[in-house]
Amino acid sequence: MRATPTVGVLALQGAFREHLRLLAALGVPTAAVRTAEELEDVDAIVVPGGESTAMSRLAVDLGVLEPLRARIAAGMPAFGTCAGMILLADELLDPRSSQQQVGGLAMTVRRNAFGRQAESFEEPIAIGELGPPDFPGVFIRAPWVEAVAPDVSVLATVRRTDPGGNPDDRIVAVRQGPLLATSFHPELTGDDRLHRLFLSMIEED
Ligand code: GLN
Repeated sequence: MRATPTVGVLALQGAFREHLRLLAALGVPTAAVRTAEELEDVDAIVVPGGESTAMSRLAVDLGVLEPLRARIAAGMPAFGTCAGMILLADELLDPRSSQQQVGGLAMTVRRNAFGRQAESFEEPIAIGELGPPDFPGVFIRAPWVEAVAPDVSVLATVRRTDPGGNPDDRIVAVRQGPLLATSFHPELTGDDRLHRLFLSMIEED
């Protein structure tokens, strides 16, 4: 790793500009990543929100999916938000038929999990690792994490009610070693604490 790590943002589709802007505001060297060559020049990667099916197709077409999978499997730090969380999941429920995973995070994710009525909503999220105040959770056709392997830390959940009226807590933020993922979009808020957490994970690496 270089003395000052460069953080790449996968820039195929979706909210990549917002991540680049937020990281630049934190004084971090950044680079948009669209190709295998551009991936070689970064030390960590953010996979943004957008549409995971479109991102997966473009990544295959541009030849960056396989190299990205290999870098993450080799331990490169990665932060996936929303569609990015979907791409980083080892297992996906409700995929589109041709959709491919980058994988790395030992979890099962369900696409569009919050249902039609709640396509888009905002909800304060308590994240113990960050402390108060709650994080502004911006959810847009968001996934949730259905199951995690024992070495995956759950950073945050949201409470829903099951059909029997019982509390039903759903996982919306996780960490596993150098990998971080959220169902929601921190890049669309003014709150940079999750990006700073990711930067601290890169430094630890
Ligand atoms: N539902 C989208 C997908 O399947 C994710 C939405 C988002 O990133 N805001 O990729």
